[in-house]
Amino acid sequence: MKKLTIIGGGPAALILAAELDTTKYKVTLCERKKTMGRKFLVAGEGGLNLTYNSPIEEFITHYFPSDFMAPFFRQFTNTDLIAWLNELDIPTFIGSSNRVFPESDLKPIEVLNKIVHAIKARGVSFQLDTKWIGWTADGRLSFENIEAIDSDIVIFAMGGSSWKVTGSDGGWKNLFEERGVKVQQFRAANCAFEIDWDKDFIEKHEGKPLKNIALTYDKHISTGELVISKFGLEGNAIYALSQKIQETLLTEKSVIIHLDLKPTMTLAQLRSKYKSSSQSKVTAILKNDLNLDRSSIGLLKHFCGKETFSNPDLLVQTIKSVPVTIKSAGGLDEAISSLGGIALDEIDENFQLRKIPSAYAIGEMLDWYAPTGGYLLQGCFSMGFVLAAYLNKLDE
Ligand SMILES: Cc1cc2nc3c(=O)[nH]c(=O)nc-3n(C[C@H](O)[C@H](O)[C@H](O)COP(=O)(O)OP(=O)(O)OC[C@H]3O[C@@H](n4cnc5c(N)ncnc54)[C@H](O)[C@@H]3O)c2cc1C
Repeated sequence: MKKLTIIGGGPAALILAAELDTTKYKVTLCERKKTMGRKFLVAGEGGLNLTYNSPIEEFITHYFPSDFMAPFFRQFTNTDLIAWLNELDIPTFIGSSNRVFPESDLKPIEVLNKIVHAIKARGVSFQLDTKWIGWTADGRLSFENIEAIDSDIVIFAMGGSSWKVTGSDGGWKNLFEERGVKVQQFRAANCAFEIDWDKDFIEKHEGKPLKNIALTYDKHISTGELVISKFGLEGNAIYALSQKIQETLLTEKSVIIHLDLKPTMTLAQLRSKYKSSSQSKVTAILKNDLNLDRSSIGLLKHFCGKETFSNPDLLVQTIKSVPVTIKSAGGLDEAISSLGGIALDEIDENFQLRKIPSAYAIGEMLDWYAPTGGYLLQGCFSMGFVLAAYLNKLDE
């Protein structure tokens, strides 16, 4: 049997370990933490959004670069993931927003335990508390606490570089660069963005949500919710644009995004409602006729001058497109995911590293992006599944 070592114990590694043919490979999984799947459990704290329910070709468009990711989703789709979980006795349900979660009586730790149990049943060995630290001079895998391992195949699944407390700190970057592998700089993705709030505004509105809004940046539109924080804005609507905004922040000092506070109404509808109002005060019209909440009205006042506020036509136009200036992105460590990682031209179509023989890399340690909504976990699960299928057929 060939010796196969997996480094990392997140979702990409777990599905791989569960699917590898253990009659063909002697599989050892090394995880630096004392327990597996720490980030998976953190994801569970906000509701473990496992994947998203939509037709696969539409689903694929949410990934960047989508042409790189597409083949993995065609081989292991969102419905395949649901079926895979169901087989492990992990029932799922589709929420109202089409997000897929484990059934509500199942805690994230129970989901993780069921997956780990299935892996153990296949005879995979676990080496916990075992940090990989590079290669020995003769090419063996080096670890902090155990003897170097001689492995025929190694699969790296060490995650990205956010939420370091979970073990995914991107500390592996230098080790790959020393071997000539290009690793793109890590930056926050699915993260908060900094806004220069007026003191008065933030005192009144910190922590308040802006529900059912739409954001536009550079022809990209995202809908959902925002939360006003002391730092700026966070929430799924801005997370979805994080990669595009970050691209611009590489060269520009600030970015202007546009917020539509009434995406379900056209400009003409808003104008007509405004004009037919029986109220005399602008704030009363905004509140009672246009149904804007206090924070939305506060935001409008914050970003438009008195002239706009006293001009109904201009005001209505601004409701559909409030210009909001972003100064910077939030910290990498607080971000839900990271941009950057191993450059995609460093691996072939089967995830094999071109410069390191018999080594593969999967999951968030590669340089791809997806918004929240279950797309990140599905990306990692699909890669792990597809690589296992490939390795199981290797040399047949
Ligand atoms: C707050 C939060 C909420 C999230 N919510 C969701 C969600 O609801 N839905 C969704 O789809 N995604 C969500 N995500 C993202 C998702 O959790 C990640 O994309 C996913 O866990 C990445 O999987 P991975 O297997 O690539 O790496 P990780 O899960 O990061 O696992 C990598 C593992 O490798 C180990 N490791 C690292 N270096 C070494 C080393 N040198 N030696 C040995 N082991 C090492 C780490 O300890 C870690 O356990 C969330 C993330 C966060 C932070």
